[in-house]
Amino acid sequence: MDPSSLPAPQTNPDDDLIIQASGVHKVYHTGLVSVPALRGVDLSVQRGEMVAVMGPSGCGKTTLLNCLSGLDTPDEGHIAIEGVSLSEMSDHQRTAYRARRMGFVFQFYNLLPVLSAVENVELPLLVSGVRLREARKRALESLAQVGLAPRAYHRPAELSGGERQRTTIARALVNQPALVWADEPTGDLDSETASEIMDVLVALNREQGLTFILVTHDRGVGARCGRIVRMRDGLVVAGQPGPAPQPGISAEPAQAAH
Ligand code: ADP
Ligand code: MG
Repeated sequence: MDPSSLPAPQTNPDDDLIIQASGVHKVYHTGLVSVPALRGVDLSVQRGEMVAVMGPSGCGKTTLLNCLSGLDTPDEGHIAIEGVSLSEMSDHQRTAYRARRMGFVFQFYNLLPVLSAVENVELPLLVSGVRLREARKRALESLAQVGLAPRAYHRPAELSGGERQRTTIARALVNQPALVWADEPTGDLDSETASEIMDVLVALNREQGLTFILVTHDRGVGARCGRIVRMRDGLVVAGQPGPAPQPGISAEPAQAAH
């Protein structure tokens, strides 16, 4: 086959924006009340960045993460992930794209209690048609990456909070995603365990170049990220370099952890 007939790459690797969002609006309608959760958010993230999204409760952090990751649909605005417009995908394509390219880590583990750690981690692979032997191998590799190989055959009830969260991180990694979304990943953990979980995420970011977008209200967690994006009242108010972001330059660089 003539290589020139293949589709051109969507992005230039030197200028590799993994997330490009502009003018994102989202209004929730509940009964007679309309809540404007996002009021025109612009956000760009480079491949390999680790970004913390911070701001007061109710400012729209979860809504933004849900819209950017295709879990929810914005009312207005444009969102492209890896150069591909989410709004131009069908629901089916969006779901498939999420499963293939994105990993998710939430505050409350969402692990199935009757399954062992390795069974929880391999589940997304089995759902997407990977054979059991291959799925088990990859799930064990994922657990090893987060330092949980010795606990692979324990059920969630037999794991500590930190170990449960490591299991969900392993599950998020098992499809070798391009980016990982995390909504308050340390929200249910004491500060020492939270710091251990951040060690795992920072190592994955530094060593494997995995992109993270991490919602947190914990300043210690924010400080471990490469950039802090601040939100208020449905808008990004700091930490977004603008329409032409430059690597390493941001309105508010994160401080080194102490
Ligand atoms: P944060 O994650 O920053 O705490 P959210 O994105 O969860 O904020 O919420 C932003 C605003 O949207 C809040 O005022 C919240 O009450 C409202 N909201 C969020 N989800 C819904 C929903 N499903 N229905 C109605 N209102 C919602
Ligand atoms: Mg939230």
